[in-house]
Formats: sequence, C-alpha cells, structure tokens
Amino acid sequence: MEPTPAEQSSVDTGYESLARVMSDKPTRPAGSRPLLVMKFGGTSVADAGRIRRVAQRAVAACDAGSDVVVVASAMGKSTDQLMDLAREVSPLPNERELDMLLSTGERISCALIAMAIHDLGHVAVSLTGSQAGIVTTNEHTNAKIVEIRGHRIDEALAAGHIVLVAGFQGVSLDKNVTTLGRGGSDTTAVALAAALGADACEIYTDVDGVFTADPRIVPDARKLHFVSFEEMLEMAASGARVLMLRSVEFARNYDVPLHVRSSFNDEPGTWIGKADERMENAIISGVTHDAAQARITVGEVPDRPGSAATIFGACAELGINVDMILQTPAVNGVTDVAFTLPSGDVEKAGPVLDRIVEQVGAAMWRCDQGVGIVSLVGAGMKTHPGIAAKMFASLADDGINMQMISTSPIKISCVIPEEQVETAVRCLHAAFDLAATSELRDHGHAGTTS
Ligand code: ASP
Ligand code: MG
Repeated sequence: MEPTPAEQSSVDTGYESLARVMSDKPTRPAGSRPLLVMKFGGTSVADAGRIRRVAQRAVAACDAGSDVVVVASAMGKSTDQLMDLAREVSPLPNERELDMLLSTGERISCALIAMAIHDLGHVAVSLTGSQAGIVTTNEHTNAKIVEIRGHRIDEALAAGHIVLVAGFQGVSLDKNVTTLGRGGSDTTAVALAAALGADACEIYTDVDGVFTADPRIVPDARKLHFVSFEEMLEMAASGARVLMLRSVEFARNYDVPLHVRSSFNDEPGTWIGKADERMENAIISGVTHDAAQARITVGEVPDRPGSAATIFGACAELGINVDMILQTPAVNGVTDVAFTLPSGDVEKAGPVLDRIVEQVGAAMWRCDQGVGIVSLVGAGMKTHPGIAAKMFASLADDGINMQMISTSPIKISCVIPEEQVETAVRCLHAAFDLAATSELRDHGHAGTTS
C-alpha cells in the first residue's frame, strides 16, 4: 500500500514539506473571494483593547472583500509566564505536558478575538491547531508541520465566517498536541496561507517592518519596502528577530508573498517575495547581528576522516543549531575545530562535548561565551566584488578584530567580541550608507495594499 502523504513526510528530516501533499499551488473554490491570512504577534493582542483592535482589522478586511483567516499568538508574554510556571512546578517539565500547557495561550487569544468579532456583527469561529487540521511530527516542543487538512477552514470560510486559528501548535501523527518552537505562530500563518492558496499573508507585529539594521542600535536605520525571500532567510538566520526562520523557508518554498507591518498604524510595512528587477540597484539590504552566541573549540582533533562527522553528528542529535564552523590546517596530525552556537545551547552541549572529546581522541574542548556575530546581507553582493574587503576594512578602522568569517553568495558574517557588536552594526550601516540608499526599493512592491 502507498504510504499516506503524512507518513511519507514524517520520514523526511528536511524542511517542513507540504510538497508531498501539495504538488501544485492549491486553488480556491470557484467563485470564492481572495483569501487573506492575517497573523498577530503577542504584543498585538496583549490586552482587551488591542484584541478589539485586531477584531476591527479582521472585520475591515472582510468588509473590503476578502475571506479572512486570523492566526494569533498568545497574549503578551504569556508563553514565557506559562514556561516559568511549569519550571516552578517541575525543573525539567515533561514535554508532552509542556505542549498541552503552552498551547493554551494561543487558544485564549483566538477565543477572545472571536468574541470581539461577534460584537462587531460578524460570525467568527476559533479553532485550535488540531481542529484546523495542522498535522505535525511527534517532536514535542519543536514539531514540524507535515500536512494541513484544511477542509474545516474552507467550509467555515464558504459559510462567510472569519476563521481564527491558534498559532504555534498542531496535532502529531500519534495524536498528541504539539507546539512548533518559540515564535511558531509565524510558521502556522505561512503554512496555512500556502495550504489554503491565500493571496497574501500579513504578519502584524510591534515594529513597522524589516529595517536596514536594528533601530534601537542604529537610530537612522531605514524601513525596507521590499526584501527577497533569500535575503530574508539570511537575515532571519543571522539575528533579525522579526520573523521565525522556518516561516520564511515556507514562504519561499510555496511562494507566499509576506507583508510584515505594524499592528499599531496603517502604514505599509515590508513586502517579502520573489526577487525582481527593481532590486538590482540595492547591493546591501541590511546589517544583522546576534550577540547571544558562543564559540566552542575542540582542541587537537586527530586529522582523519570521520572526526568532524562525529562531532557534528552528536550536536545534530541534540538539536543544537551549529552555525559557523572553522577547522585549522593540520599540524603534527591534529587540528582545532571551532564552531558557533546560540549561547542558550551551551549547557545542553557540555556533557556531549566531554563524550565527543573522548570518542574522537581530541585533547579538550573549551567555550568562549563572549562572542557575537555581525552580518551583511544583500542580493547585489553576488555581482559586486569588493564588498567583503570593504566590510573588513571598516571593521578594522573601528578596531574590531574578526575571529571567524563565513560567507554565502548573499551574506558575509564575522564572529567578533560580543561587547563590540553594537559598534560593528553602526560602523557597517554607515560604511555602506544604508540610511540613504536603495531608492528603487522605495517604490513599493506590486500588490502592495493600503
Ligand atoms: N506564543 C509563542 C511564543 O511566544 C509562539 C509565538 O508567539 O509565535 O513563542
Ligand atoms: Mg514572533
């Protein structure tokens, strides 16, 4: 018997893959209205007044002619509070029960928004992730979506209802409630937009869009009007906190245009979509940073095939997100292998590193918590030589010493001392004149609303 799509997907360890159930972009039922998925983050639903405002936005979009699916995060910091509560009760909470607990936050905001929509004279229905047909892998607290069975949502939309879906959660193949990892409501929204064939996915948040750098560090950072999927992937992976990385992967894989915008005003935000010709003039889109990094060095690793595979295989098994890797040329048959990881993962990595050192016959491992990463991202880098040289010279001028460097076709990242991260961001933003450039991107993007 052919495996079901969900079963096939569950053996795939790659990116979340709706491809197995969606060989073509789904088409909406004939005669249906355009579909808009609107996602609201925690600050956008932090209190009763803001919840009523979200309800007004959803109703306005519906009155303007769209079918509307709203995905909401938990109110304010309530996921953190639930997490704290769990740890107070149990130092290492059972993960299945943690998912039962954390998933309640999103149910609360969705039910409240639905009530507020009813008071505005529209019919709304709130659904848990499971009711919405979001099927995931079995990994509690970090599940991946494998399938979306959207018929219940389609039926509600066809009946003229506004549908609220609790973000960040689903139901696993073995029928337990799961959550998708911190920030997972973005992924819920984009995956729903892909699976339902939405025309766009709006991400409402507490900032005005995607900026050339963090405005708290660079006061003259500029809002970008258009960013390509590839650039946004690099930005999200290198510290831009505006979107969960996995949601951008989804958006790119299924070509879902995203509009990141503020829930506190009606200004257009940043569109994220396929690269187009209007981007050509912009060489650099932004500077991102991540101060919460650490570097591990495994010293005197025997220089033979398989050593690195053992080290990084063990890290992968623990779900540690290794970013940059550097191996020194071998001297006397041994090399040093260094890599960066989020500082939060160091504790988890410790015991495994002790084991690894023994297994590969290395001399020791050490950890340096005081590092951060600064990155320059821009699609135009591909065709403009000299960007790296200019970046390194600018950092050198400010007395910043680079400890590791890594590049992709559209990103250059440097590991630097943590206390110099903010200086580095300001230095690069100025060196590449990001406050002023890329006129072309300010035209807005085809399809920009409001
Ligand atoms: N409420 C969850 C969190 O705080 C999911 C989300 O907001 O996207 O991580
Ligand atoms: Mg978020």
